[in-house]
Order: sequence, then C-alpha cells, then structure tokens
Amino acid sequence: MKKTPLPEGMDLQVLYSEERIRTRVKELGGMISADYADQLPLLVAILKGSVVFLSDLIRSVTIPIQIDFMAISSFESAGKPGGVVRILKDLDIPVSGRPVIIVEDIIDTGLTAGYLVKNIRARDPESLEICGLLDRGVRRLVRLPMKYVGFEVPDRFIVGYGLDYRQQYRNLPHIAFLPEESIED
Ligand code: 5GP
Repeated sequence: MKKTPLPEGMDLQVLYSEERIRTRVKELGGMISADYADQLPLLVAILKGSVVFLSDLIRSVTIPIQIDFMAISSFESAGKPGGVVRILKDLDIPVSGRPVIIVEDIIDTGLTAGYLVKNIRARDPESLEICGLLDRGVRRLVRLPMKYVGFEVPDRFIVGYGLDYRQQYRNLPHIAFLPEESIED
C-alpha cells in the first residue's frame, strides 16, 4: 500500500483540537438528548468518515437511541462532484414512522446529503434532520435542513477525526488542514 507522506518538514495545521471537538460533540449530544426525549431516534451514519464522530456523539447522548449505517459512492462527472450516487450498503432498520437523524462528517456541496435526504424521505420517516460535524457552507449547492452543526469550516481540504485523504489520516484525534502541496490530482 502506497503511503502518502507529507512533504519533509511539514506539519499538519490543526484546525480543531481534540479538546475542542470533545466539548462541541458533548454539546451536540446534549441538544439531541433534549430534542428527542422519549422518541427513540435512529441515528444514521454515513460510512466511513462519520464513524469517529458517531461513536463520540452517541456517548454524549443520554436518551435511548438506535444506530444504523449507510455507505454510498459518488462519482465525479466532467470534474464536477455528485454526478451519480450509488448505495453500497443500505439501512438494516426500517425508518418508516421513526425520527431519523443523518450523521455526516462534512457537508460540502451538500449533494451527498441531499441525495440521502431524498432517499430516506421516500421511506416515510416521522421526521428527518441532519447532524453534520463540519459544514462548509461556502460551497453549498443544495438547500439542506442542517439542524445540528459542529463547526463551520473554510474551503481547504480537511483530514482527521474520521476524515481521510486516500483512506489515511482517519485516526488523527484532531481535525487538520492537509497542505495543498501534498494533495495529488
Ligand atoms: P458533498 O456531497 O457535500 O460535496 O461532499 C460530502 C462528502 O465529501 C463528505 O462526506 C466527505 O466524504 C467528502 N469531503 C468533502 N470535503 C472534504 C474534506 O475537506 N476532507 C475530506 N476528507 N473529505 C471531504
């Protein structure tokens, strides 16, 4: 497996420390606990980038919940993102009549989350909201119901805390910028 090392002498610039993430995720967990008391919400995490966030988030939630996972693939068409989306792993738990919260690592153009909202809405949930750890609103192309947002982020590539570059860096405990010099086209 090819490594993608950083250029020599270059450190990743930390955007959000482990401590800041912990505090914010606790706040989000507190909001969900208050908003969904007695409702048994189903938290749907999108693989793979959301797993670190999901695992911390659910431990900050103090009410009964259930979790499920979806995996999708999106393809670029003519250099533009979000051309086609295909479901690689679907939900195991039926969502009809249930309050559902989509848990995403980062909402960028919003095309991925927009597809998921449409797809899950068609299954008739009682309610459907989005909880995104990171929100890059400057690139948004689709209007989305973003009920819970961890942090707003600028238009620079981000890794860590579940987010990858070529499947690496997911295990960083913090959120960092990947220097442009180390991104290959
Ligand atoms: P969207 O469909 O909103 O444009 O893109 C959402 C998906 O693109 C995210 O779930 C994530 O997989 C990927 N993505 C967007 N921006 C970044 C980024 O800065 N870093 C990483 N690692 N993935 C990103």
